[in-house]
Amino acid sequence: MKVINVSPWINEIEERPPIGRYDGSGETDVIIVGGGIAGMSTAYYLLTRTEHSVTLLERDRVGYGSSGRNGGQGVASMERSFADMLRTMDAKAIVSELHALESGYWHLRELCQEVEYDAGPYDTVVWCGLSSVDEVGKYLEEMELRLRYGAPLRALVIAKEHLAETMVPSELRGLVSTQTASSLQLLLNTKERYRAAYPIPVSLVNSGRLCGFIHKHLVDNFPGRYRAFEGRMVHRIEMGPKVTVSSGQQRLECSDLVLCTNGYRPPEIVADQVPTVTKTLRRFVASMVAYERKVRSPPAAYIYFHEEGDPEEEPYFYVTRRPYRITGDDLIAVGGPQTIIETDIEHDKEYPSGVYDRIHGFMERSYPEDVGASPSMRWNGLMGYTTDGLRLVGPDPNVQGLWYNLGCNGVGLLSSIVGARQLTGLIKTKGS
Ligand SMILES: Cc1cc2nc3c(=O)[nH]c(=O)nc-3n(C[C@H](O)[C@H](O)[C@H](O)COP(=O)(O)OP(=O)(O)OC[C@H]3O[C@@H](n4cnc5c(N)ncnc54)[C@H](O)[C@@H]3O)c2cc1C
Repeated sequence: MKVINVSPWINEIEERPPIGRYDGSGETDVIIVGGGIAGMSTAYYLLTRTEHSVTLLERDRVGYGSSGRNGGQGVASMERSFADMLRTMDAKAIVSELHALESGYWHLRELCQEVEYDAGPYDTVVWCGLSSVDEVGKYLEEMELRLRYGAPLRALVIAKEHLAETMVPSELRGLVSTQTASSLQLLLNTKERYRAAYPIPVSLVNSGRLCGFIHKHLVDNFPGRYRAFEGRMVHRIEMGPKVTVSSGQQRLECSDLVLCTNGYRPPEIVADQVPTVTKTLRRFVASMVAYERKVRSPPAAYIYFHEEGDPEEEPYFYVTRRPYRITGDDLIAVGGPQTIIETDIEHDKEYPSGVYDRIHGFMERSYPEDVGASPSMRWNGLMGYTTDGLRLVGPDPNVQGLWYNLGCNGVGLLSSIVGARQLTGLIKTKGS
């Protein structure tokens, strides 16, 4: 089969003419830069929860950024462990953040219903496999802290064969069970051996296509307050009593500007102080491949964590199985490798060379079914990581009128929506 460089999630988006013809006219309260799931859900909550008018500017097409190029696993996870966050944050703030993220499952479902999204979310669990003693120990520590401080908690299953090497604290005994290593292989849908596994609720969704549904809903329901324009790259933002946004020859003014530009290079921002986004963002490119199967199985998801320093393996791989709208059959998407990038992303390029073969190699040695000689699709997308590993949501601390909902740190689907709600609350109450 010929491998094509395309994201199946962008393939699923219906053909339509570009949105809006921009002439720079009109007034608006808030400008949102970026039409991915962060920008579209920010527009949705601002319009449904406040009286503000909103203009959204997208340099390419709505939903064609990372929102149309991801693994599609909506999970309430953070990049940093509880123990790590405790070094710099107080426990109450961490617990509140974890509960807010957990609400993302519900808000995604509600959003899909409101905009009449017709393909999900598919609610299931993602089984996560742990391969080393060290990882199991760290996970037990995470469970202990979550139990102690009242944060959402998931149970752990340890392979019987490895129980003797694992110290399970007495207070966690009711949350830890055992199964044989071969039963764990079945749970994790793998030929490889893992020491332990835990399930996390997951909502699977094509966030790129969902962006188009949100846009249509906003056009239909907020004709006087919502405008969006595609093919509109914002290259300069001048902060002052009013915010002036330049895109090509056009200039547009607003009171508040929200950057939802993910890992893309931020526009030039002219302000008295240095905006946080220019100091904190590291940009990564992540790669994925997908296999088409002529069967229909229930949606499923897996994440495989591998021992640090194992030269054969990536730190982790994630696999998602869900129906592919184009054929109605299963599509199995898998990703994991990511690397830092300084230049603009090129979607036809490999980062680094051979990355797609590495992902295919993982599937050949671990996936229980034959995946064939090669995947049918392969693609990449950008991720924006903040230096502290926490999503950037809210006002810039030094530049008035500048707001953020970005910095996915690898798991940005639910947190974009939760961030959009938090941001809307802050904009609504500002100055009061
Ligand atoms: C390969 C891969 C796999 C992933 N898997 C998962 C997963 O399984 N689960 C999960 O939770 N997260 C995952 N993520 C992360 C997730 O995709 C992102 O967090 C989420 O899509 C980010 O949404 P966004 O709106 O911030 O970004 P995007 O969808 O990238 O949207 C940003 C938009 O801003 C536009 N833009 C940028 N600069 C400008 C400008 N100057 N002017 C105008 N427009 C501009 C871009 O064109 C783009 O459309 C993955 C990411 C990648 C790349």
